[in-house]
This record gives sequence, C-alpha cells and structure tokens, in this order.
Amino acid sequence: MSSILPVYRRSDITISRGEGVYLFAPDGTRYLDFAAGIAVNSLGHCHPHVTKALKDQAGMLWHCSNMYQMPGLSRLADRLTAASFADKVFFGNSGGEAVECGLKMIRKYQDSVGKPERFRVITMEGGFHGRTLACISAGGNEVARKGYEPLVDGFDRAEFNNISDVERKITDETAAILVEPIQGEGGVRVASQAFLQGLRKLCDAHGLLLMIDEVQCGMGRTGALFTHQQLGVRPDIVSAAKGIGNGFPLAACLTTDKVAACMSPGVHGSTYGSNPLAMAVGNAVLDVMLADGFFDQVKIVGDQLKTGLQQLVQRFPKLLLEVRGTGLMLGLRTAMPHMEMVEKLRAQKLLTAPAEDNVIRIVPPLIVEEVHVQQGLQVIENVCEAWV
Ligand SMILES: *Cc1c(COP(=O)(O)O)cnc(C)c1O
Repeated sequence: MSSILPVYRRSDITISRGEGVYLFAPDGTRYLDFAAGIAVNSLGHCHPHVTKALKDQAGMLWHCSNMYQMPGLSRLADRLTAASFADKVFFGNSGGEAVECGLKMIRKYQDSVGKPERFRVITMEGGFHGRTLACISAGGNEVARKGYEPLVDGFDRAEFNNISDVERKITDETAAILVEPIQGEGGVRVASQAFLQGLRKLCDAHGLLLMIDEVQCGMGRTGALFTHQQLGVRPDIVSAAKGIGNGFPLAACLTTDKVAACMSPGVHGSTYGSNPLAMAVGNAVLDVMLADGFFDQVKIVGDQLKTGLQQLVQRFPKLLLEVRGTGLMLGLRTAMPHMEMVEKLRAQKLLTAPAEDNVIRIVPPLIVEEVHVQQGLQVIENVCEAWV
C-alpha cells in the first residue's frame, strides 16, 4: 500500500528528469510535455538561466525572514509593478495563498473605508481559486467542497459570462467580484472582453473591488504578462502564481496603492513568502519573459497550435468537438470521455492535462517552438486516425 495521501489519480509513468519541452522517465523514454506541470513550467524544464540563478542564490542565502531588507525582493516587486497596473506586491508560495491575500484585502479595504458590512464576494460558476478553506468556498467545484462544510461564508456564485446575472447578485453586503479571465480548471472557458469590461463598470458603479485571478492564464501564457492587459480591463487586485516561478514555489498578489493603504505591519504575512531563493527565480523568469519579442513569440506559436488543432477538429468531428483558449492556453473538448484521449496521447508520449467540461488542456512551456507544435499535432492526428 502506498503511504501517499490518495488525493491524486497518478498514472504509472515515472518522471525523473526534464529538459526544455521534454520530460524523461528513468529508462530514458522521452515525453513531449504539453502540460508543463499544469501551466507551471513556463520556460520549460531546467531553463539554463533560471537554473543558474537558483544555484547561485543557493550558495549565497536561502532564508532570512521578512524582518530584513532583501535586494531580490524589492527588485522583483519593482519589476512586477512597473510591468502592470499594480503599485504594491505581496509574495506567497502558492496560488491559493495569493488568492487568500486578495480575499483578505477585499474585506480589510471595505472595512477601512467605513463599509464593514461589505464582506461578500461574487465568484463565477466553474471558477477555481485553490484549495484552502476560503478558496474552495470561493470556487465553483462541488467535489472540492463536499464534506468540508461549514465553508467560509461570504461567497455568491454567478453565471460566467453573464453580466446581468452578476448584477442581480450584487447586494449591500457585496465587497468585490472575483473572476478568472480564462477558467483553467473549469475547462479553458474564456471570459468575453465585454463581460470583463462590464464587471469593471459594475464595480465602479457599486463601490466594489475587481479581483482577477491570473494564477493560470497570467505570466505570459496568453501572449502578455497578464491576460487582462490584452482586454483593456483595470483590476484592483490580481493573483499570480504557476508560471511565475517556473516550478519553484512562488506566488504574488498585486494591488493598487488605493487598496494597499488598508494594510500595515502585522495584518498579513508568510514565513516563506519572499524567500530569497524564490525571489532569485522570479527575477530570472522575468529576465526571459520581459525580453523583447518573448510575448509576441507566444502569440505566434499559440496561433500555429490553435490553427492545427482546429484543423484536426474539422477532420475528426466524431472525436474532437471544439478548440478553446488563446495564446498557449488552449483546450480541446472531446466527444469521448476526455481521460481516454489523455491516456492515448500519453501512450504516444504526448502529455496533456485534463480539465472540467470534458476538456483536455494543452498548455505547453512558453518556449515551445513550431517544430514541437508540429510533433504534438502529429501525435494527436495519429491517435485520432487509429481511433476512427
Ligand atoms: C492553480 C490555481 C490556483 C491555486 O494555485 P495553487 O498553487 O495550487 O494553490 C488558483 N487559481 C487558479 C486560477 C489556478 O489555476
């Protein structure tokens, strides 16, 4: 019997090494990784620049507590704010922590402006925000919530992409709206630009904060540092994680001076947050992502992949139903139970990640090149051909 808590359905594949867009089993079997640790390994496995930064930092300082100034911390915070809407950043170790920080700031902000009765947050059906008690209470996944009751109070769910439903759910107790621009776990469901802009208008009209969860779609995945930047929507709070550390535990909660004014020493914290190892990695990831042309390349390769997938949907309409997403955050809805397809692709050494809504997530490292895209499409084509 395994001594691992059985919260994951693990395949028999063992992975012991990674390089670029490939993962390797101990016997040398090579897998094309179009899952990237679920949108985490943004620069691929063991990216030389990021690996060097981590090794160098490991020989200098691992941890010294947030009681002291740390050069890597101020540098990463300065760079993230310079590249975004934000004025202030808090660092944590996981997406759930970044979301928690945002949810706490929402309540504290409304309290600080004399509206303590405003504590409720409108969230979306199909949304996913992490696994802490507050995060599962915010999220739309029944399985994640069941048996953990009583949940954290203060979340009202509205229909995704339905602005009048959101408006109907606003009450005198509403403090904020929380949304993913592209629902990742929910099945690569894309929020329309009109919906997100409509949420901003509702927030302005009702004195609410707009929190955007970019843990999965952010950090370059859709061809910009953050997806909301492409859609021209101004958030008050943004949570980021996954791609920000390329596999090193790192997360960030970004906000404006207006909101951050409610925070002061002692009201929030994290022992490992802004750990020097994480800051070194985060800065190294930004070195690569913020270089000229990086995001343009994500868009180009993402379009190639999406076009190829759409062609396969047309060719195999009995197997593949629809392509969703943008940039390198793509989803393929299948006619058969999606795990069957995920497993067949795995057997042909192509790794993808299942999501809700019978969708296979295709979220390769952002450094993926056209040649890998063609390799991946070829595998899907072969599997479909053998299927029909
Ligand atoms: C993965 C995810 C989270 C949770 O991140 P963890 O690092 O697992 O805590 C939160 N929000 C979104 C949108 C995610 O995709």
